[in-house]
Amino acid sequence: MTRELREILGAIPSVDRILEDPAFGEVVAVLGRRLAADLVREDLDRLRHGALERPTAAAALVRDAAPAAVAGRVRAAGERVLAPRPAPVLNATGVVVHTNLGRSVLSRPAAERLAETARHFVDLEYDLARGGRGHRQDHLAPLLRILFPGSAGIVVNNNAAAILIALRALARGREVVVSRGELVEIGGSFRVPEILAASGARLREVGTTNRTRVGDYQAALGPRTGAILKVHTSNFRIVGFTEDAGVAELAPLARSAGVPLVVDWGSGDLVDLGPAGIADEVPVGELIADGADVVTFSGDKLLGGPQAGFAVGRPDLIRKMARDPMARVCRIDRIVLAAVHATLRAYVTGRAWEEVPTLVMLTLSREAIAARAQRAVEALRAACPDAAIEVVPGVSRSGGGSSPMGEIPTALIAVTGRGDRAAHRLERRLRDGTPAVIARIHEDRVLLDLRTVPEDSDDTLVSRVAQALSPVRR
Ligand SMILES: *Cc1c(COP(=O)(O)O)cnc(C)c1O
Repeated sequence: MTRELREILGAIPSVDRILEDPAFGEVVAVLGRRLAADLVREDLDRLRHGALERPTAAAALVRDAAPAAVAGRVRAAGERVLAPRPAPVLNATGVVVHTNLGRSVLSRPAAERLAETARHFVDLEYDLARGGRGHRQDHLAPLLRILFPGSAGIVVNNNAAAILIALRALARGREVVVSRGELVEIGGSFRVPEILAASGARLREVGTTNRTRVGDYQAALGPRTGAILKVHTSNFRIVGFTEDAGVAELAPLARSAGVPLVVDWGSGDLVDLGPAGIADEVPVGELIADGADVVTFSGDKLLGGPQAGFAVGRPDLIRKMARDPMARVCRIDRIVLAAVHATLRAYVTGRAWEEVPTLVMLTLSREAIAARAQRAVEALRAACPDAAIEVVPGVSRSGGGSSPMGEIPTALIAVTGRGDRAAHRLERRLRDGTPAVIARIHEDRVLLDLRTVPEDSDDTLVSRVAQALSPVRR
């Protein structure tokens, strides 16, 4: 180390001295002393390492180590650390239940109940009538009774937990008969065989990947059988020479063997989604009518509520599940419970189609989306005369492991930038800004689907696209 460098390094002020500098007053007020001190230490370390690696640049160190310069960098770093996370984004993918973007947006009443519950004590496990201990599941029971007459239900952390608890409580130490065609992995590392193993039940595979008949199940049933499990294959479909046994065919078999028929229905629609153009999803109530003993499903897929897992079915089996220790481990939080309750209320009162955003987005007409897209395109053409922007036909997707073929006609805003890899650059810039806009790329064009963008955010989307198209001018 040269003597000059040693002197310069020695002249870097101490963390404490920097923090006392007037330039730091506001930074410390915003970030707090502890975070500010940590970031100053990191910043000065980086300066020292930089100087040692490139000694010729050591002179620049003096300038970079000035308190005002450090304060500017520390403030920016601190604001990144403290920025609210997860950050709101505009979902312009047209995938309504997008697992990576948080699945469902809550209805206004659900969001309000959630915020209110967060800020108050509530009668979560307190029976106001008797003045003693109550049960958190009791709050949902009256709504579940209306939605699923004759059945009981519990709601836990998510659908994976609901299945785990069902298999543990009903079939631990025994065999669970599952079709090979249903041993699927569903996005986000949910693997049926792994959940089964975790439950303490043993997997008994039957049939083949593409064909499993009722007879295959029948042959596997015996004294060791604990349950028959049927799984919605969700985001995946085998087409062609296929055969599978439905709930109505399996129910008599399960009954005669004296074992429960458990159905993992993934998305779990409470209403007929036919009007949304999703014809091949069977509502949960129909499965129960067909003889399913327990049906599990997610709260945040097509149901349109917060993350939660439902198990609905025979009251004696649901009681067993509720008593399992895993039900305590995976119990639902009070704030989420309030949002689930508000979401179910929309279904009970028949307002779900107007109130639950997931259902509203699924049923927006192509024409309504096209009209919004056309207005956006005109605004963009005015702002960015260089870019080629138009409305083109396309498809949205229901997503969330609902029907894989669930394509809904839509109108897309297609943006073609100028130059090499323009679409990729544009897509990245859309992701970089605030709010981030998540779009898709197809054949060198960026495609934006307004189906999944709240209508009152159309203007924000337009200005973000305009900004991404002309980053230099703005
Ligand atoms: C999505 C899905 C799951 C997982 O549900 P989570 O609520 O994410 O735990 C399980 N099974 C099926 C069939 C699914 O579609």
